[in-house]
Amino acid sequence: MIKMANITKAFGKHEVLKGINLTVKKGEVVCILGPSGSGKTTLLRCINYLEKPNQGEVTIGDFTINCKRPNKQDIHTLRKKTAMVFQHYNLFKHKTVLENVMEGLVIVQKQSKETARQTSIQMLEKVGLGSKLDAYPSQLSGGQQQRVGIARALALNPEVILFDEPTSALDPELVGEVLEVIQKIAKEGITMIVVTHEMGFAREVSNHIVFMDQGVIVEEGRPQDIFSDAKEERTRQFLKRIT
Ligand code: ATP
Repeated sequence: MIKMANITKAFGKHEVLKGINLTVKKGEVVCILGPSGSGKTTLLRCINYLEKPNQGEVTIGDFTINCKRPNKQDIHTLRKKTAMVFQHYNLFKHKTVLENVMEGLVIVQKQSKETARQTSIQMLEKVGLGSKLDAYPSQLSGGQQQRVGIARALALNPEVILFDEPTSALDPELVGEVLEVIQKIAKEGITMIVVTHEMGFAREVSNHIVFMDQGVIVEEGRPQDIFSDAKEERTRQFLKRIT
């Protein structure tokens, strides 16, 4: 289970998250939707402390961090429970596909190179890149690079994978292959939190939708309810504009 309790975050005077409470159950796929600037990415980055919340608590599994007084070890423990898939892939350009996936396993998780290699190959096969192990990121399409990013996250075997607009940097014809891979791994019961503007994906793949606007969660619920019968006017207006 992931739980955020009363999370606030300001950049200077700009209050971007205004007391967020969110619970994600194990195995759930949650999509966070909302207009540009509503705080979706900031919220996601507060879960693994890439952004430091001003206050509140984050719980992942049996571990809770009090955001007012975290120490380095707490942040390290929290991060080890998560993996992130970034909008711009964030691969090491001078490492091969296989080395990119192995890196976290060897350096952070202190696995032997051979164990890391085996896990990484398995994950790359899962995302359809078993034939690209020795390629460099520059030799791959954006869709393939993002699939490496997904394999890298999966290999860490985290309690939750955080996806930050995983398809928004891609050419439209490459979006489908990445969403298909995410859909496939969602079926394996991995907890996922996905910030996305892909409404079709959110509707089809998620179990739970969170709609944010201006730093608050306006409404949340099952996709079938939110998409066909949203209770809040702000949610209805947003969905009308975007779908
Ligand atoms: P989008 O859909 O456009 O990615 P979002 O809902 O993910 O938007 P955030 O990226 O979380 O929104 O940003 C929320 C607000 O916080 C925006 O006004 C943004 O300009 C501001 N913001 C985000 N990161 C920083 C930062 N590092 N410094 C200052 N302001 C920031």
